[in-house]
Order: sequence, then C-alpha cells, then structure tokens
Amino acid sequence: MHVIGTAGHVDHGKSTLVEALSGIDPDRLREEKEREMTIDLGFAWLNLETNGELEEVGIVDVPGHRDFIENMLAGVGGIDLALFVVAADEGVMPQTREHLAILDLLQIPGGVVALTKTDLVQEEDWLELVILDLEDTLAGTVLAGAPIIPVSARTGAGIDELRYALITRLRETDSRPDSGRPRLPIDRVFSLTGFGTVVTGTLVGGELRVGDTVEIQPAGLEARIRGLQTHKQKREVARPGSRVAVNLAGVDTGQLSRGDVLSAPGISRGTILLDASYRHLPGATIPLKHNLEVKFFAGAAEVMARTRLLGARNLAPGEEGWLQLALEDPLALVRGERFILRRPSPGATLGGGRVLDPHPGRRHRRFRAEVIERLQTLAEGTPAELLLQKLSRIEPATRADLLRAAGMASETAGTAWEELLTTGQIVIAGQQALTRTRWQQLRQQLLDLLDAYHRENPLRQGMLREEVRSRLRLAAAIFNPLLATLVEETLVAETGALLHRPGHAITFSPRQQEAIDALLDRFARAGTDSPSVKESRAAVGDDVYAGLVDLGRLRPLNDDVVYRAEEYEELVGRIATYLRRHDQAGAADIRDLLDTSRKYAIALLEHLDDIKVTRRVGDRRELLSR
Ligand code: GDP
Repeated sequence: MHVIGTAGHVDHGKSTLVEALSGIDPDRLREEKEREMTIDLGFAWLNLETNGELEEVGIVDVPGHRDFIENMLAGVGGIDLALFVVAADEGVMPQTREHLAILDLLQIPGGVVALTKTDLVQEEDWLELVILDLEDTLAGTVLAGAPIIPVSARTGAGIDELRYALITRLRETDSRPDSGRPRLPIDRVFSLTGFGTVVTGTLVGGELRVGDTVEIQPAGLEARIRGLQTHKQKREVARPGSRVAVNLAGVDTGQLSRGDVLSAPGISRGTILLDASYRHLPGATIPLKHNLEVKFFAGAAEVMARTRLLGARNLAPGEEGWLQLALEDPLALVRGERFILRRPSPGATLGGGRVLDPHPGRRHRRFRAEVIERLQTLAEGTPAELLLQKLSRIEPATRADLLRAAGMASETAGTAWEELLTTGQIVIAGQQALTRTRWQQLRQQLLDLLDAYHRENPLRQGMLREEVRSRLRLAAAIFNPLLATLVEETLVAETGALLHRPGHAITFSPRQQEAIDALLDRFARAGTDSPSVKESRAAVGDDVYAGLVDLGRLRPLNDDVVYRAEEYEELVGRIATYLRRHDQAGAADIRDLLDTSRKYAIALLEHLDDIKVTRRVGDRRELLSR
C-alpha cells in the first residue's frame, strides 16, 4: 500500500488536480468550498495499476496557504511520494520553496512534479523558463531529478502522463516496512452517529486488526478497535503505508486530538524532553539560538518547545548540529522520527531533523565531549540497528555472510547478532537469516496467494506446492521452513502435493454433483476399459474434472487414461500380485490378466514405472521392491 501527498503553493491547483486524477473532491469542508481553498486535510484515492495489479493509492491533499503550512505538516508525515504542484503561469513561489524544504527535511522518499494550468500559458518559451527554474530549485533536494509533467486539469492534457509517472515512481518505492510495531499518528478525530469515535491517519510500522487493543499516547488511554476502513472500504486488517480510519471503543472524541498517536501497547509513550540531530535551513531568516522558542512538528502533532543547543553557541543558516528540545506538552515520539521546527511569529520554517532519543532522562550539559559522542553514535545507529539494516539489503544471508558484509569488529557484530535474535528482529530459516519484517511479508504473501487461488478456483482443492514456491520466487531453503511454520500454526494445510487453507473445501452445486455421480457410475460399470480423460472432462466440465482429480476421486495416468480411485487401487493391486508370483511380466501378460486392450495395459505399466512401483527390464517389468 502507498500514500501520495500533495504539496505546493496555494491556488496552484492541487485539489483540482487530485480530483482530475481520482474523481474525488478532496475539499470536504463547506468553508473550503466558499473560499476555494483547502484548509484542512482532504483525502482521496486513486486506482493505479502497478506490477500488473490494481493498487489503491491514498492521496492526502494538503493545503498550501502560508497560514496553513502547519496543517500540511500533519498530513505529509507518512507519505511515500510527493505530488509537488507548481502552476505554469506563476512558476516557483516562496511557498513552493518552503514546501520543498519541508519535504526535504522529512526525507520524503521521492516525488513527481506536476506543472499545472498549462492551458493558461501560450508561449512555449515561458514554459521552458519555468521548467529550468524549477529544476534549479529541486537540485540538491529529495526531489532532485524528479519527473516534471506539464498538465492541465481544465483540458485534461498530460493527466495520463502524470498518472503513468506516479505509477512508475511508486513501483520503485518499497511498501512501508512492517516491523510489527504499528503506529498511527492521528490527524483527524470525529464521531459518527451509530459508530462513535473515529480517528484517521497514515499507518506505519505494522498492521492493525479489528479487535486489537491499542493505546493512545501521550494520554496513555486504552481502547479497542471496533472497525477499520481504508478508502471507505471496511477491512479486517489495515496494512502499513495506508490511509486508515479507525473506529474505537472505550474512548470519547473529547479525550483525543490531532497529534495523539494510536499504537500497539508499549511502543511509545509521552515525552517532554528529547535528543535530536538538526539541520538549519540555508534559507532560514534567523540563526538557531540556544533557548529559542519554536514550534515543534512531528507526525501529526504540533507543540511549543525550547531549544537547548548542544556543542555550539548557535547555528547559522545551512549548518547542522545537535539539540535537546524541551516540549511544553508531552508528545508520543519514537526514535528515528523526523521533525520540523518553525518560528512562531512571523511563521517560517527554520529547519528539521531526527529524534535520536525520545527519553534522554535529563538535560545535558551543553559543551561536553561525551554528550556529543553519544549523539553521534545514536545518529549512526546502534550496532544492532546497523546489522539489521545491512541484513535488510542482502537478505537472506547466513550469519557468517552477514557479519562479513557488515564490516564491524567481530565481537561487536556477534553481540549485535545475539541482540537481534533474542529480541526477535531476525528469523532463522534453515541456515539463513531474514529480517522479521521480510519473514512476515513472505508469510502474508503465501497466505494471500492461497486465498486468492481459492477465491478464483473454488472447485480446486489447492495450489501445487512447487507453483506456490515459484510464484513467491523463493529458494527451497527458505520456502520449506516458511511453509513448515505455517502448517504448524494450521494456517496452511498440505494434501499430497497441494497446499490449501485448512478451512477450504470444494463444494459442488447440486447440478454438478448430479453430473459427477453419473460419471463415476460410468467408471464403476466400465471397469478396466474406463472413459477417457476427454470424455470425462466433457461429462462434468473442466473445472469440476480438475476438482475431482484434486480430491483424489479420479486418478489420471496420462493425458488419455484415467480411473476412478476404486478401480485404480484394485488394478494396481492385481498387477502387483501378478508380478509377485511371476517375477516379470510383459504388456501382453497384463493385457490378458486384466482382459483389456494394449492401451490400458501400457498406460498402467508406465504409470507404475513413474511412481516407482515397477521398473522396466527390456520390454518387461518387475517389481522394484517386494
Ligand atoms: P490548491 O489551493 O492548490 O488546492 O488549488 P485549487 O485546486 O483549489 O485551484 C485553484 C484555482 O485554480 C481554482 O480556481 C481552479 O479552478 C483553478 N485551476 C486548477 N487547475 C487548473 C488548470 O489546470 N487550468 C486552469 N485554467 N485553472 C485551474
């Protein structure tokens, strides 16, 4: 699942463009309608075909007016891709730059630029100038080199190209990692009659399920998930990287507000002091000073804060450094989270960075070498984090390969390995290690594959084990242990060479059952000279025939000859008994024994060779083992 977020100067055509792409008008408030301006977050979604599959992609339409940049920050946090909008008639504006700086500070994974309102521009030269200026503006940011697509929402020009560019970029973007630690920064709270409390946000870190108990921080409230929706569809499970509405039991809307975080219990808790790395924007209007009052934004939250500048007297525009931030009210933050600092008045973005430690416990002395060293280590990542990152790039890998690839001192790497094992962040399959995230993805893919197969082939018992393995593109060394755990947890069942969900059973309609009974009756009467595969298919239909084979009711020997299970057992038994008495037999002996034609005798013998009951010696057969 993916989420796209819009950004760009007010009135440059973001909402109109989202509507042109999705058919959904994201301006949901009447007030917006009146002022023709998006003042709160609007939500829409597109159906994009990626990797041959239709994917619903959420769009968060965030407003661009100066007063509302802070609203934009609430929406842009969890997005995978920015749809950066610049109007061709006006070109790059101050807000264009500020939004770009924010996308850059938040390290949004990438984006596509839509040059809108091209219908208002007559001269080609002007368009070219705007594009050149835009390319300069994007250089050195997360959007450097992003495709720039001229469009007009009014005439529809370029909309297909834009859609294609979005698909291409999304294909290159991995889905949000699933570390089994779901967090949903809440960006809207409301109540619906008949449902009660609903919160929305972009889910990261893991799945949420109906029935889950969750926590809402920083207040520390407990609630239960009564219902989930993604793009107005009811879901049992919400996946990371999707826009989600959560219907909660056990809390009132009055207890919640934007900026709270809904998560699995124990993942984050409120803090009022944090350690961070920080980059002061080159375009910042003032240097960053110690004890400066700022507005702090992270996730969908906003709070007043004071800076404690560490290891420097102040930071000039463009400089990087280390901060402690003292928050006026507690926020639920996790390590690694990105944040933005703004000047309260006049409102302007100052810079941003990453939370290194959400619970440092105390105020640091400002100019201590050991304080700075600790922050540097945290910024680089702990050895276990580095090892896990490495593994996620090369997985699956053996312990030896991973430790070699990590290039750490062997003792450090060994300890980090142990830590990852004991905390369950890596999974061992046979000789190889995988990140828990990857392992969970593979499990889910296998289950999804079987579920889809059952949905599409209700008359088939299951999928061939080998086909499942090759569809997942897995080596047996990973596939076998993966399957073994799913079988052990009774999430998958194995019947012969077929894999299926344990709850799945073939059910025939009364009419199908009638045709089946008639066919099986023909087999019973025919004995050795059974109806052919072709006749059987014609009698019950191809899918029912395949179902009977899956169920073991029919046993095909080759493309032509097939038996009912009862006759099959009997014939194989008679041939084996004969061979036990006579040591060897030719096709003619078996033909006479069964009082049938050569065709059936040879089909049976070749089949017995195939399943290693007999072996061929010249043109005779003998039992492989007695
Ligand atoms: P936002 O504030 O960036 O979301 O901008 P809107 O989508 O609300 O658009 C602002 C104004 O520009 C509206 O009056 C739109 O009708 C107009 N507009 C949007 N896209 C186009 C376009 O492609 N061509 C023209 N001529 N006008 C457009």
